Amino acid sequence: MSNILMKYQQKQELLAAYQLALTTMHWDQATIAPKNGSSYANKMAGMLAGESFSLFTDPAYRELIVTLLDDLSLSFDLKVEMQQQLKIIDQIKDVPKAEYIEYQQLCRDAEVIWEKAKDQNDFQLFKPTLQKLIDQTKKMVSYRNSDLDVYSSLIDDFETGITIAQYDAFFENVKAQLVPFIKKIQQTNTAKPELLSIEVAIEKQQQVIDLLKVALCVDDQSSYHATSAHPFSSSFSILDNRVTVKYHPKMFLSSIFAYIHEVGHATYNGQVDIKYDGRSIANSMTYGMHESQSRLYENNLGRNQCFWEPLYPKMQEIIEPLQSYTLEEFILAINFVENSLIRIEADELTYPLHIIIRYEIEKELFNGSLTVDQLPQVWNQKMKEYLDIDVPNDALGVLQDIHWSSGAFGYFPTYAYGSALACRFEATMKDQIDVYHALANNNFKIIKDWLKINIHQHGGLYTPNQLCQMITNQPFNAQYYIDYLINKYSKLYGLT
Ligand code: ZN
Repeated sequence: MSNILMKYQQKQELLAAYQLALTTMHWDQATIAPKNGSSYANKMAGMLAGESFSLFTDPAYRELIVTLLDDLSLSFDLKVEMQQQLKIIDQIKDVPKAEYIEYQQLCRDAEVIWEKAKDQNDFQLFKPTLQKLIDQTKKMVSYRNSDLDVYSSLIDDFETGITIAQYDAFFENVKAQLVPFIKKIQQTNTAKPELLSIEVAIEKQQQVIDLLKVALCVDDQSSYHATSAHPFSSSFSILDNRVTVKYHPKMFLSSIFAYIHEVGHATYNGQVDIKYDGRSIANSMTYGMHESQSRLYENNLGRNQCFWEPLYPKMQEIIEPLQSYTLEEFILAINFVENSLIRIEADELTYPLHIIIRYEIEKELFNGSLTVDQLPQVWNQKMKEYLDIDVPNDALGVLQDIHWSSGAFGYFPTYAYGSALACRFEATMKDQIDVYHALANNNFKIIKDWLKINIHQHGGLYTPNQLCQMITNQPFNAQYYIDYLINKYSKLYGLT
């Protein structure tokens, strides 16, 4: 191995060490750390992030990468990894370190302010901070040597290679086909299943999670679950992937499906080829790709009747009130379509409309046609237009999501794109293995292995489009997503 390559790899390891420290601190804060210690811990995390920033943007590191990229004998995975690194370095290298740290601090503080504003249902409380976040985000992007406008840049941060024009086409297509279909579903006037309002004690929900852990082939030696205010997953290394659960006694299905979702994320990170451990390529899959795996688990597989065939009788033993409901009634309940206020509680069919609302608003916020002042009003108008629903207050409206408070503008579209990728991959997986048979026979391992071989093992080596081409022999096509939704819900709701 050349000397210069060794230097690069040492630097990668050091960066990974910082990353592990920061991941561990974040996990600790979100799970068991007492609240009063958070301000000190956040300050220390900020210092570590600053050090990591200096290491990463050190001109000598960039120089190493540029030199290595000239080497024709460089392996494919190293080349991709270095190109990805170079792209990120060039996005932030001209940001003054103090400003970078200040921005990180702003995001951390903003989260606390947002939480308070949401609790007190007071948009005015969050408004000045949101304005600052937008201004600072624009400023950070202005340091880039790029031809892209601000929102295009942000979109590309979360989903490399995607353009506003592509998202526009995708969402227009989704809107044109799904909005009339959702109207048809609503015209069936199906009553909300009673089963959805069953109260389930936390201990019982924990037993169901244990059941799901086995069903989803979660490996105890490389994973762990804790509780937190908002469910999330966290990758410490390829052999250590953790998820959190939030138990809602009055919404047990929400805890269950959030868990399945997070296991989808964790499984992706856990099935990356071990040779990438400690390297950025292990974690550089796009947000849409990540979401494709979590949503595949949660919706395509987790809300499928075959998945519950072996599990439902066991769950009925744990949650006795479920004994009054058949499996078919349960399946209808977990797929119940309802125009609702909250994105994370939304059903699979109306979900993309929640994303479209956020996407349209973000575009307007960044092209200047919408001010922060107008935000609540425009939010409510769009909720009425797309979901025919009146928003009673900002806590249930514009303040519901954490994303903007952490500076994550351009993130939302990846959720819908991920759902669409999931459906595309699932269609090919079904051609190659008997997915329903595997689910009905408690043989999730076959599915997990297919995902490992075709998707997970590569980590962030390929873009979603490259993966589509490799797995399906076709470029990405959103029609699979729309067809999946229309077929699934037509069957469930007895529409022809
Ligand atoms: Zn997710």
